[in-house]
Amino acid sequence: MAEQLPLPLPDLSSLPSRVGIPRAQRVYVNRNLKMTGIDWVGFDMDYTLAIYDQDEMDRLSIEATAAKLVGWGWPEAVTSLRYDTRFPIRGLLIDRRLGHVLKMDRYKVVQKGYHGFRPIPREEIRSLYQSRKLRPTTPRYHWIDTLYALSEVALYAGIVDGLEARGVTVDYAKLFTDIRECIDEAHRDGTIVDRVLEDPGRYVHRDPMLAQTLHKFRSAGKRLFLLTNSRWPFTQAMMDYLLGGAMPEYPSWRHYFDVVICAACKPAFFEEKRVLMEREIDPARPGNGTLRPASHLERGRVYEGGNLLDFERLLKVTGDRVLYVGDHIYGDILRSKKDSAWRTAMIVQEMEAEVAAHEACAEDLHRLADVGARRDQLEDELRANQVLFKELSRQIDAAAEGGNAAQAAQLETVRGRVKRAVERVRGAMRGVEAETLALETVVSRRFHPFWGSLMKEGTEMSSFGDQVEAYACVYTSRVSNLLHYSPLQYFRSPRDLMPHEM
Ligand SMILES: [Mg+2]
Repeated sequence: MAEQLPLPLPDLSSLPSRVGIPRAQRVYVNRNLKMTGIDWVGFDMDYTLAIYDQDEMDRLSIEATAAKLVGWGWPEAVTSLRYDTRFPIRGLLIDRRLGHVLKMDRYKVVQKGYHGFRPIPREEIRSLYQSRKLRPTTPRYHWIDTLYALSEVALYAGIVDGLEARGVTVDYAKLFTDIRECIDEAHRDGTIVDRVLEDPGRYVHRDPMLAQTLHKFRSAGKRLFLLTNSRWPFTQAMMDYLLGGAMPEYPSWRHYFDVVICAACKPAFFEEKRVLMEREIDPARPGNGTLRPASHLERGRVYEGGNLLDFERLLKVTGDRVLYVGDHIYGDILRSKKDSAWRTAMIVQEMEAEVAAHEACAEDLHRLADVGARRDQLEDELRANQVLFKELSRQIDAAAEGGNAAQAAQLETVRGRVKRAVERVRGAMRGVEAETLALETVVSRRFHPFWGSLMKEGTEMSSFGDQVEAYACVYTSRVSNLLHYSPLQYFRSPRDLMPHEM
């Protein structure tokens, strides 16, 4: 065995090895991304820099929304129903006509569904959704693509379930519209943000590595920007909570960023020519300030609105040299990808649980692959025996017609043996199918008690996983995972293999 060569530079040995990074904290690559080619790194705030406690946030939204629904004429009971915050995941589809919640695979074929908390049987799914092309963008359906919207699903399923159990007839479409209106109102009128800011420790995880991650980018010469839809007072308070006092080199959170834009109105920021405004801030009252039109983007100032074209023009940067880090598949990732050349990093906080489940299922997944190979083999055996059976039947008929009774009888015996073999193979196949189903159920439940994997649906990608793959250059569970990598990292995607290349 060759001796290990001493490393030429002692420093190299202290560089973090990618192999040593826990899977839950790795950056996963769909499309090659050379960080040496990136000048500006931008960040969304909510659910990207600010990691919310999903369960606490959902409970807060549910409570605020249920109270408003009663004001809108829904029965008092909606404030005391059982709401399961574990129920929803991203990528679900609401059927507003039938009151169902659905999960689709990458081909937009519905594979799973619940009415309230009752699973919809396979045959019903097939007859309702699989026999003709489903159009998820029509008003009948609503796609759940943000973590904010998970509470809408928890409310919807909880109310359908709870009210129908009490014998109330539910107008499914109206219910969903009212939930959306009430949640929006709770965000607009401050019911939710006020509660979050009163007790941020309860609702937000302050990532101790976030400041260092941003600092590392800056040390490597990257310029950073914040581009958030949140309004200034909330942005100021939240960013101060996340980064204030984190590193002595930075007197305030604003010193980490070269450009700060709030109330950005994504995805319109990427598509429309909205006016860029500057907020003049009184240092004594940093949560306020007046607005005026702006013609520059300067460090130390705070902007609102604006648009992609002005952004690139004022900063003299081309889109391919910008990396934007966000969590919203449509507003942050898909739109920036379709309307600009920005490179994208998606924060998928569910990846931590997803990867843990994947690791816990390793043995079952192996077993599933073995069972799949056994099924293929049995199918081959079945076909071969069926061909033999047909051929023997033909020969028996020919022998009988030719008056050769002895030969016909002999062939009958052989055919009997083949028939029994067919039955044996069929029995084995039923066993294999039952085992596959049992293993798939175990695997699915390990990922999520209701929906299975976020990124996969059965052996296919889920519709959500498909969008992540199509639009995010890289994805990871939180911003500070980037600290494990060099700010000049070359993120390489695994080579794309088509089925004929495997
Ligand atoms: Mg966000």
